[in-house]
Amino acid sequence: MIDFELAPEQEEGMKAAHDFARERFRPVSRYYDEQEHEDPKELIDRMWEERNKGTLALGLDVTAALRIEELCWGDAGLFLCVPGPGLGGAAVFASGTKEQMERFLGRFNEGGPKWGAMAMTEPACGSDTSAIATTAVRDGDEWVLNGEKIFVTWGKRAVENPESLVVVWATVDKSAGRAGMKSFVVPAGTPGMRVEKLEKKLGIRASDTATIVLDNCRIPFENILGSPDVKKADKSETKGFKGAMATFDATRPIVGAMAIGVGRAALDFVKEAVENEGIKIRYGVPRHKLTALERDIMEMEANYKAAKLLTLRALWMMSQLQPNSLESSMAKAKAGLAVTRITQKAVEIMGPLGYSRKCLLEKWMRDAKINDIFEGTGQINMLVTARRVLNYSRDQLK
Ligand SMILES: Cc1cc2nc3c(=O)[nH]c(=O)nc-3n(C[C@H](O)[C@H](O)[C@H](O)COP(=O)(O)OP(=O)(O)OC[C@H]3O[C@@H](n4cnc5c(N)ncnc54)[C@H](O)[C@@H]3O)c2cc1C
Repeated sequence: MIDFELAPEQEEGMKAAHDFARERFRPVSRYYDEQEHEDPKELIDRMWEERNKGTLALGLDVTAALRIEELCWGDAGLFLCVPGPGLGGAAVFASGTKEQMERFLGRFNEGGPKWGAMAMTEPACGSDTSAIATTAVRDGDEWVLNGEKIFVTWGKRAVENPESLVVVWATVDKSAGRAGMKSFVVPAGTPGMRVEKLEKKLGIRASDTATIVLDNCRIPFENILGSPDVKKADKSETKGFKGAMATFDATRPIVGAMAIGVGRAALDFVKEAVENEGIKIRYGVPRHKLTALERDIMEMEANYKAAKLLTLRALWMMSQLQPNSLESSMAKAKAGLAVTRITQKAVEIMGPLGYSRKCLLEKWMRDAKINDIFEGTGQINMLVTARRVLNYSRDQLK
């Protein structure tokens, strides 16, 4: 049975998120875009309160995606300031034990705002995650981490706020390839972990993106997620690497939800402007009789809806414990591309107003592009999709 009806509590959650986005994000959206690196402190405190009350509770499921769409309709950069376990938490969920989940994530419901970042990307390691150069060397009952992580979302907040954490990907044996790749939880305030610089960005400028350096950073042995074992004879993927991929299966559709929120903001804006001009979009009329404007708007809507359905399907499958790598990558590839096209078309349709800072369209166009980059670029997600559809291995299709 296929059921597209939303439960009443899902609709309530969407409405609460929408109201929050309209009342709290939109009025300060331009300000925090222009004041990059200024912390929206009061807003963060408020978001933390709302999160703990449940209004902004954001997991990795369909209900969360519906809320995230609404929040990103308000402002994707400010959405990325909502405190919580985030990508770091998703990594702990994907590869951690029950004890680790309790130890690292249990305290995320108490005290002040805290963040969980995930640091995989390095100066010479992005799409090809197996190129990781950060090392983790065992020394008695500790791991010693050394390396540099770039473009870490929440990098500053997770490193500097008490009880926050960073999940760091490192190799315990470079010669073992992917089998040597493991993830480690580094609590905020651990000596040897520091923020090196803050990134200046095209879009989502309210979101903090930092370079983190690990310089002889020591953490307890039991902070490794998954097994420390490396099977050298067989260089295939071990649980460590699979943990990274499982994290993406959960987080890629969440990026899809972010993308469709930004896309809908642009779509709503254009449709309202067109309506205010007294133009009615004629649905159901044969394509050759439509105006160019009607065709453009219908194409934007089709892209938005396709991305949304793919996103919700990927998350629904995960909640049914069904493997969803293919669907996650499809959703992410489609949503990143869809939001890029929708926002560019919206700027084009609105002409100079779309390009000016008088309204938020140009900002949404800048905010959109990141959805086609982080958590695997559009090309990488299409590559993963092609491999899965054609049943090719990583080595057969690069
Ligand atoms: C704002 C922001 C926030 C980020 N947050 C995080 C974070 O929290 N944690 C984290 O670890 N990383 C984060 N990243 C990094 C992001 O995940 C990487 O930028 C992304 O994975 C791409 O890696 P790269 O930059 O090294 O590009 P590259 O891998 O060098 O790719 C460059 C180009 O080549 C293409 N390409 C590469 N390989 C192939 C291939 N096999 N086939 C076809 N095309 C290919 C890519 O699609 C891309 O267009 C963030 C990045 C940004 C910009």
